[in-house]
Amino acid sequence: MELSHRDITYCKNVGAKRADILRKELGVNTALDLIRQYPYKYIDRSRFYRIAELDDEDTYVQIIGEVTEWHTIGIGKAQRLSATFFDGTHQCELVWFRGVQYVKLQRGVKYLLFGKPSRFQHVYNFVHPELTPMSKVTPEMTQGLEPYYNTTETMKKHGINSKAMRTMIAGLLPELKAGVPDTIGADILQRYRLMSLTEALVNVHFPKDTPSMQNARARLKFEELFYIQLQILRQMKRREQNPGFAMPMVGSRFHGLYKSLPFDLTGAQKRVIHEIHDDLKSGRQMNRLLQGDVGSGKTLVALMCCLLAVDNGYQACIMAPTEILANQHYETLKAFLAPLGDAVHIALLTGSTTPKNRVPIHNGLMNGTIHILIGTHALLEDNVQWQNLGFVVIDEQHRFGVAQRAKLWTKNQLPPHILVMTATPIPRTLAMTVYGDLQVSIIDELPPGRKPVQTIHYSIQRRAQVYAFLRKQIQEGRQVYVVYPLIKENEKLDLQDLQNGFNELCEAFPEYKISMVHGQMKAADKDLQMQRFASGETQILVATTVIEVGVNVPNATVMMIQNAERFGLSQLHQLRGRVGRGGDQSYCLLLTDLELSKDTRKRMDIMVATNDGFRIAEADLQLRGAGDLEGTQQSGIPFDLKIANLSTDGQLLNLARQAAMEILDKDPLLEDEMNRMYKRQLDFRRVEQSYNWGEIS
Ligand code: ADP
Ligand code: MG
Repeated sequence: MELSHRDITYCKNVGAKRADILRKELGVNTALDLIRQYPYKYIDRSRFYRIAELDDEDTYVQIIGEVTEWHTIGIGKAQRLSATFFDGTHQCELVWFRGVQYVKLQRGVKYLLFGKPSRFQHVYNFVHPELTPMSKVTPEMTQGLEPYYNTTETMKKHGINSKAMRTMIAGLLPELKAGVPDTIGADILQRYRLMSLTEALVNVHFPKDTPSMQNARARLKFEELFYIQLQILRQMKRREQNPGFAMPMVGSRFHGLYKSLPFDLTGAQKRVIHEIHDDLKSGRQMNRLLQGDVGSGKTLVALMCCLLAVDNGYQACIMAPTEILANQHYETLKAFLAPLGDAVHIALLTGSTTPKNRVPIHNGLMNGTIHILIGTHALLEDNVQWQNLGFVVIDEQHRFGVAQRAKLWTKNQLPPHILVMTATPIPRTLAMTVYGDLQVSIIDELPPGRKPVQTIHYSIQRRAQVYAFLRKQIQEGRQVYVVYPLIKENEKLDLQDLQNGFNELCEAFPEYKISMVHGQMKAADKDLQMQRFASGETQILVATTVIEVGVNVPNATVMMIQNAERFGLSQLHQLRGRVGRGGDQSYCLLLTDLELSKDTRKRMDIMVATNDGFRIAEADLQLRGAGDLEGTQQSGIPFDLKIANLSTDGQLLNLARQAAMEILDKDPLLEDEMNRMYKRQLDFRRVEQSYNWGEIS
């Protein structure tokens, strides 16, 4: 029987009880499912170490030597056995806490020591090492790479550890070697020089040597990425058939704004506007992601594209994630559009728009006299009806759900063109997966004349020095942000921190005025405080991350971040983007504890080292993994990738996407006899639908 149909219960070394646990813990139902559990690491058993060579605490090693001395400490359950191991030149310590009575040591016998060292005061020690007399070491034991498997607590409790996994998989080896049907066509295997599935599965578990292990893993990673890409690209192909509003004209409003700008557009801005205009002309619906670092001028690009729509007789809207941002967009747009006089009508609709003020807005949208509406979630309310909404800009998309977006248009209409803007640069590999079915435009150039923000990392012990620096900046007429973390789980505590911080700053700077904003405040109070800071009435703004996105006060030159260790890299980068918006040199001060974890130290170092949002995003991906990054959870793509890693397998991802594209270019619906297998696999893998921007209407 095919391995894919063999119930796991009836496999060698398994049995009913283990089968039950494997099903529950790993979702393993068949023999093939078990074989598809890949090792997460390998230990090279052909390599022997000397104690003097040890320097990494994280990897398993084996050493040959003798036990020269041992003694037990304590009695009964608390007993512990400690031994000295000597490799001929150096010594290390071996320790057992459990099963001490079973450890039999002999002097003058050569042992093979196997375990994971850790260092304590310059001495390496091994806790619960494997110690095998050399006379009992078989050649197989020290041959090649030993695979290690992930197991859960429950599995371990029932004796299914990594070794047991290995034994169970080994039991299937003869059948596996007889061959399993491949999931990738022979032509692709050949062109991309990939192992067959059978060969890859054998070698991922029992590699002959390092190169065959690596080739096996590459093939399995390719397969995983290939099917995700095939799924995404098939969706994209389907959607490319969707009709959309045609907006071929470049009209008077667009030209009017362009001529009135006090500066030139950057090359990147021009290129992106062209890319979008090409989509608008095409007669198909646009779904595009616009990426650009903070301050790269996305808002203006969005506005110019809205004007393209308006010039073609359509309405447009811009959705912002917060009221502050919506307000600010509204003000910014109004200023840009002032030279155009009466030619463009814009309106603002948020949760705080009064019922009375809503009436003319609702009317204006329905009869087409409002051209561009800016707002928050309020845009999505049922009573907001459009005459002909043709273009939608979504700022910071990860805060909007798919269902919410779908409310923007009615079933009997064509869906509007959609431009999603994000100021959090997304690593390329992630963009190709999470947003793989969107076209991507990138603004990779900042307007000229910006001075890069200087970032400095301080420990809180140096607060006095930091305050002196703030004072000097304020004396020069500048303004300062002080940001505190706000994490939902203990909001109360965080607000307390914020309040204490505010009080402390009031004491430290009695001569200056200080504003405070946080998410729990009434919108009107928040706005008032923000306005006071924006107008220069207050010199310091104490805030939580509500100011993370978009807030624009060019005179503010210092962003001081308290407990910077509690922020993610992208968030820190966003916060830093709030300064450096005027002509003055700006600073970002990261305050942390003196004692930092390795990860935190790395994050601070990266922030200090670079202002490049894409580099920061790559680093974030490496440190946190794809599943934890913003935007990935909502994507519907299974980010618990089994073997591929988006931070290290970019190359393979490119190849996999290319291969999937080649197939779909010839056969978009996978109808050819040759491609049936791919279609079946897609169904079988049931890769969840990722965002389907075009079909959510
Ligand atoms: P983003 O939204 O990408 O963070 P903004 O649109 O807020 O960036 O732009 C930041 C600032 O730069 C704004 O004050 C904007 O008016 C200005 N700006 C935009 N484009 C240019 C340009 N080409 N040259 C000079 N300044 C620009
Ligand atoms: Mg912006």
